[in-house]
Amino acid sequence: MRLSLLGIQGSGKTTQAKLLSNVLGIPHLSIGQLLRTFAEGDTAEAKQVKEAIDAGQLLSDEFTIRFVKQHLTGPDYANGFVIDGFPRTVGQAREFLDSLDYLIHIELDEKEALWRLAGRVEDRDDTSLSAVYERIKLFKEVTTPVIEVFRVANKLIQIDGTSSIESIHASILKALGATSA
Ligand code: AMP
Repeated sequence: MRLSLLGIQGSGKTTQAKLLSNVLGIPHLSIGQLLRTFAEGDTAEAKQVKEAIDAGQLLSDEFTIRFVKQHLTGPDYANGFVIDGFPRTVGQAREFLDSLDYLIHIELDEKEALWRLAGRVEDRDDTSLSAVYERIKLFKEVTTPVIEVFRVANKLIQIDGTSSIESIHASILKALGATSA
């Protein structure tokens, strides 16, 4: 199964992606994590990526689509995968609509997401907080239309993100018609 997990930052999408990966026996790819690793490199492109991530901005579709395709072409992903943090724009969604079976959207309202994220800001400076605001704003403006692309294609699974990790996990498995081992 080729799955994508989408949710506002703080919705627990990475936790759910890891659980799904274990239960379904398919690899997990966190695009945010892969990009952070890439950003540690010494190239000019790596430095640009780091600046965008630190500012909470999205990278260009051109770069991100190329980056994700490069990672997904490996044999490890031939039998399915669960990807989180992608697609986040309509351009990315259209490009990958045929390569994904379902988009699972973990729904959480903005206020609840902000409370959760504020607790995660470690250095408590303005840069971290403004990056958190920027991410939430971007999600609303740029990523919400992605959900519509998958809804229209009949590939959308909506899950209530306010309940416990276990119950969200169970709801996703139920929606997929799968059971945990
Ligand atoms: P995340 O850990 O998923 O919040 O991703 C961290 C950062 O990586 C984001 O704030 C963006 O700067 C960048 N990023 C992750 N996924 C994407 C994407 N699909 N498109 C563009 N930029 C992305």
